[in-house]
Amino acid sequence: MAEDTYKEPAPYRRGEANPFDSMMIRFDKAAEMYKLDEGLYNYLKHPVKTVIVSIPVQMDNGKLEVFEGYRVIHDNILGPSKGGIRYAPDVDLDEVKALASWMTWKCSIANLPFGGAKGGVKCDPSKLSMTELEKITRRYTSNMLEIFGPDTDIPAPDMNTNEQVMAWIMDTYSMHRRKTITGVVTGKPIIIGGSRGRREATGRGVMIATLAALQKKGIDVTKTTTVIQGFGNVGSVSAQLMREKGSKVIAISDVSGGYYDKNGIDIDMAIEYVKKNKNLGGGDFGTKVSNEELLELECDILIPAAKEDQISAENAERIKAKIIVEGANGPTMAEADEILRSKGIMVIPDILANSGGVIVSYFEWVQNRLGYFWEEDDVNQRLNRMMTEAFENVYNTAIQYQTTLRLGAYIYAIDKVSKVLKLRGIYG
Ligand code: NAD
Repeated sequence: MAEDTYKEPAPYRRGEANPFDSMMIRFDKAAEMYKLDEGLYNYLKHPVKTVIVSIPVQMDNGKLEVFEGYRVIHDNILGPSKGGIRYAPDVDLDEVKALASWMTWKCSIANLPFGGAKGGVKCDPSKLSMTELEKITRRYTSNMLEIFGPDTDIPAPDMNTNEQVMAWIMDTYSMHRRKTITGVVTGKPIIIGGSRGRREATGRGVMIATLAALQKKGIDVTKTTTVIQGFGNVGSVSAQLMREKGSKVIAISDVSGGYYDKNGIDIDMAIEYVKKNKNLGGGDFGTKVSNEELLELECDILIPAAKEDQISAENAERIKAKIIVEGANGPTMAEADEILRSKGIMVIPDILANSGGVIVSYFEWVQNRLGYFWEEDDVNQRLNRMMTEAFENVYNTAIQYQTTLRLGAYIYAIDKVSKVLKLRGIYG
C-alpha cells in the first residue's frame, strides 16, 4: 500500500542482526547496573497478555483466506497500553512480543501514562486490494474488541499501516460500541481526530533532543554541521528543522545514495525533488557519496534516520561526528556502543531521540478525550517541554550511574516502571 506519511514509530525493520537482541543486550546491562530485583526482571521480561486471532476474509477472487493476527500487551503498569500495528508477511508472535516491550521503555522515558503493546497481521499488503485490506482490518479489530479501548489498549500505525487503516479501526470499534470513539486509536487523519503537528513530530523531537545535547556540550548550533541518513518523514523534517535552527546540513541520503556539499544543501529543494521523483536519485545536490561514506563524514551532528544496523563495530571507529542522534530505531548495533563511547561520541538513543512521534500520539489521545483540539503551536510547545524534560531525566540518570545516555535511558525506564509496579503491588 502507499507509503504512509503519518505513521507511528516503526520500531524496526528486520536487518541482518536482530535489533531486538541489540535492545535486550542493553536492557540486561541496564538491569544489572540498576540491580533490578530478579523477580521484577522476570516480570518485566514477559508480556501480561498475548492474543492470537484468526481473520477469515473473502478475497476479491471469491476465495476464503484466513490470516493470523496478534496483539501483545507487554504491560499496563503506567496506564493503558500503547503501540502500533504492522502488516507484513514475516510478522510473528516473537517479533510482536519484542516490539511490545520496546514500547514500554519508550513510553516510560517520555513520561507518558502508557504501558507498551504491539500488534500485527501476517499478510502482504503489496498483494492486497484496498477492499481486502479493509476487510482484514475490520475483522482484526472486531476480534480485538475486548482488548482495544481508549482506557485499555490504544493502537497506532506501524509498518504498512497508515491513517486510512487507523480510520477503519476507529470506525469498526465505534460501530460496535454504538458511538464514535476517536480515542481508541492514534495516527488518524486530522479531519477525524488526528493531531496537528503529528506528521512532523518525530523529526521535531530529533531536533529538540539535538539542541539539548549541544547545550550540554556547550556547542553553538549555528556553528555546527549536520549529516543525515534517510530522507523520509524523520530525515527530511529533521533536516528542515536543524537548518532552521542554524545548523548547516552538509549531507543527506536515502535509499538511492547521498550528496555532500560543504556549503550546505538546499533542503527545501531536496524535499520538493523527492515529492516529484520519490527519492533523491538523479538529483543535483552536491558531490555524490554512498550511504557508507556519508556516515563517516567530518561533522558535528550525525542523524541516522533510515534503518537499523547502520553503525557497527566495523565502521564505528571511523565515525567523526561529535553527537549521534538516533532518528531511526536501532541504527547502532550493540557491538558499536563501547567504541563510540571510547571515542567520546555522545549518542542520543532511539528510545529517547525518536519519541516525538509517540508523544504527539499521546497528545492526540488527550485531545480526543477532551473533545478539544489544540493549535499546532500548542502541540509543538508541549512537545518541546516533554522532550526536553525526557532528555534531562536521561542525562541526569546517565551521570548518576556514570554511563552512556543509552544505558541511562534504560535505567530511567526500569527505575520508573519498577517503582510504580512496587507501589501498585502484585495482585493475587
Ligand atoms: P520513511 O519510509 O518515511 O523514510 C525512510 C527513508 O530511509 C527514505 O528516505 C528511504 O529512502 C531511506 N532508506 C531506506 N533504506 C535505506 C538505506 N539502505 N540507506 C539509506 N537510506 C535508506 O520512514 P520514516 O518514518 O522516516 O522512518 C525512518 C526511521 O525512523 C525508521 O527506523 C523508523 O522506524 C524510525 N521512526 C519513525 C518514526 C515516525 O514517526 N515516522 C518514529 C520513530 C522512529
